Amino acid sequence: MSNYDIIIVGAGTAGSVLAAGLATQGIKAALFDRLEKEKIGIKVCGDATSIDHFERIRSIVKIDPPHGEEIQQKVEGAWIYSPDRKVKFELVEEGSTGVIIDRFKLGMRILDNAIDYGAELYDSSMVKDPIIKDDQVKGIKYRGKDNNLHEISAKVVVDASGVGAVLRKKLDKNKTHMDHELAPKDVCNCYREIRDVKEEIESPGFIRLMFDQDIAAGGYIWEFPRGSNSMNVGLGVMRMNKLNPHRQFDLFLKQQEKLYRDSKLIHGGAWRVPLRRPQDNLVWNGFMLIGDSGTQVKPTDGGGIGISVTAAAMATKTITSALEFDDVSMKGLWPYSVEFMTTIAPVTAPLAILKDYFITLPSATINEVFHKRVVEGEELLYGNAKGQIDSGLIKNLQRAYRGRRILGTLLGFRSAINKSNKARNLYYDYPKTPDAFPAWRNEILNTYGEL
Ligand SMILES: Cc1cc2nc3c(=O)[nH]c(=O)nc-3n(C[C@H](O)[C@H](O)[C@H](O)COP(=O)(O)OP(=O)(O)OC[C@H]3O[C@@H](n4cnc5c(N)ncnc54)[C@H](O)[C@@H]3O)c2cc1C
Repeated sequence: MSNYDIIIVGAGTAGSVLAAGLATQGIKAALFDRLEKEKIGIKVCGDATSIDHFERIRSIVKIDPPHGEEIQQKVEGAWIYSPDRKVKFELVEEGSTGVIIDRFKLGMRILDNAIDYGAELYDSSMVKDPIIKDDQVKGIKYRGKDNNLHEISAKVVVDASGVGAVLRKKLDKNKTHMDHELAPKDVCNCYREIRDVKEEIESPGFIRLMFDQDIAAGGYIWEFPRGSNSMNVGLGVMRMNKLNPHRQFDLFLKQQEKLYRDSKLIHGGAWRVPLRRPQDNLVWNGFMLIGDSGTQVKPTDGGGIGISVTAAAMATKTITSALEFDDVSMKGLWPYSVEFMTTIAPVTAPLAILKDYFITLPSATINEVFHKRVVEGEELLYGNAKGQIDSGLIKNLQRAYRGRRILGTLLGFRSAINKSNKARNLYYDYPKTPDAFPAWRNEILNTYGEL
């Protein structure tokens, strides 16, 4: 007998949306978080997302999109700067539903919704290990509020514990085909502050992104206004560059002295974001990954809020039907993997190949790309949203002409685009059953250069 139908480890964006979705179906769900309830939802994050993501899942998980005070700022577009800040692409998104959210307020409301629908919260409870019997996850071991170790069982256990992926790392990777550690080129170490500023922020509807490889090596700097007098400002450096993100952040703040001189620090902190393709497999017997633990992010910008709530809605459907048909094996949970891999992954996963290429470029080359408009701003926006960059012949010739001083870079870029197109097609062909998975994975590892 199981204590619960489902145990969800992590009450962040992914875990609390899943808990709400399952609880509305009458499924007996336990939601674990190491933080006390009042602190769940405080996360170092850029807090940028889109209402669209939430609208699309509303009917499945019964969670209203961000509204009222949960929205700090509506986003009209983006300013993207060259590393030397001399070129600025202004990208305006017609009918944008982008927003900068108050993550804490939104997180708390979703968590409260989940509890109201019937999910049971175990806060201040540190999950330690999965319980595995006969090649199936049957429950978890955790240290509870009383500081004692406990065991608890469920038919399905979901790892929604974020980038730390506490359970994914403890399963036999030869059986699950899930990675234990992420490569240093696939993890971005970030530092972020929320600062109230005295000076009125110009055009707060525009988020600012700067690709300065000297300060934010392998990553970028962001400034996301939260109204006219507050900024969510931060940067990420790729782990392989071994830089301290806080120190790099201080360098940036000094450059922006005019805006931040008399500013007030509201919150500051460091955290990591995975920047890679999703885990090749998202389910095992009695087990599932959602959110950052499944590396379900956009590899070029680290956006994961929308993707993780979408994954939570997909997982809600699969778990509900797996419980109904009493099949929580890898095969029974497989439809979740298929849905995610054939709808979201074809957009996000190929971007990992482009990201791997971009992080090798020095600031001087990126300056050249911006100054000569080798890639247009609209292409960047479209490419990042759809995971596709046009590599047509005429465009290539134009680019080659405009950027002839960096021809080698352009050839590398074209090769990365071709490789990413190949990857996209593989995702559309994600195997419909687990037995076809090993052959598919070989092809993926080959395409991503990991064989
Ligand atoms: C600096 C930074 C900036 C970002 N900016 C953006 C952005 O602007 N837009 C965007 O869309 N995305 C952004 N992201 C990514 C986004 O935050 C995540 O992709 C998204 O929140 C995924 O949520 P999650 O639920 O998977 O993980 P999390 O939100 O990290 O939640 C994981 C939860 O698990 C709990 N937990 C962890 N370990 C244990 C354990 N052992 N036992 C019990 N509980 C545990 C944690 O306390 C936490 O509550 C950013 C990330 C970072 C780090």
